[in-house]
Parts: sequence; C-alpha cells; structure tokens
Amino acid sequence: MAQLLPGAPIRLIHTIRNVISDHQSYLIDPETSKTFKELPNLIFEDIDIVGIEPVRLFCGCSKEILYPMLFALDKEELANAYENDSFIEIVCNVCGKKYNFDSSEIASLI
Ligand SMILES: [Zn+2]
Repeated sequence: MAQLLPGAPIRLIHTIRNVISDHQSYLIDPETSKTFKELPNLIFEDIDIVGIEPVRLFCGCSKEILYPMLFALDKEELANAYENDSFIEIVCNVCGKKYNFDSSEIASLI
C-alpha cells in the first residue's frame, strides 16, 4: 500500500507505481526478501526506514454508527419495512459488513 501525505507531489504516486510495477519479483516474498526492503531506496534518494508492518484492514463501523443512514431512506420504504415486519440491510462501504435493522428499530424513525 502506498499513500501520499498531504502536500506530496501527485507525480510521486506515479513514480511509486512504476517502481513497484518494474520490480514485481521483489514482492513475491516480502517477509524474507532483502530486495523488497530496498524498494523504497529506488524511489527516494534519502530515506530512513523506521519499520515494516503488514497492512491489515480495520474498520471501526458498528450498527450504531450506521443507524443514521436510515434517515437517508425514503419514508415510504421505512414504513413498508415496518408494516411487513421485515428488515433493512445497510452495508458498510468500507469493509462490506452487513447490518440488519428490524421493524422495531425502524419504528422509531417513522
Ligand atoms: Zn465497516
């Protein structure tokens, strides 16, 4: 994963993309490959690597956080779900986790 910090020139991400693309073989075994750790030196002339960590996805979403999304729905859609005793599913657009809101949770919005 490569991400520019605010103020970084946009051309830098193209340079990073090109260097990684040109050195795909370096990425086969990043845990043990010395060459993988040398990749940043191919992009930056003066760099200190302070650490290498695996990237993990963490999403802090919760049902409580996504509940306000129900306000964006059409009142008719909310009423229909309530009257049919069904649920409304909201999917977090970051991690894809699905949250179901039942008719009792929908009732407070109507
Ligand atoms: Zn999420």
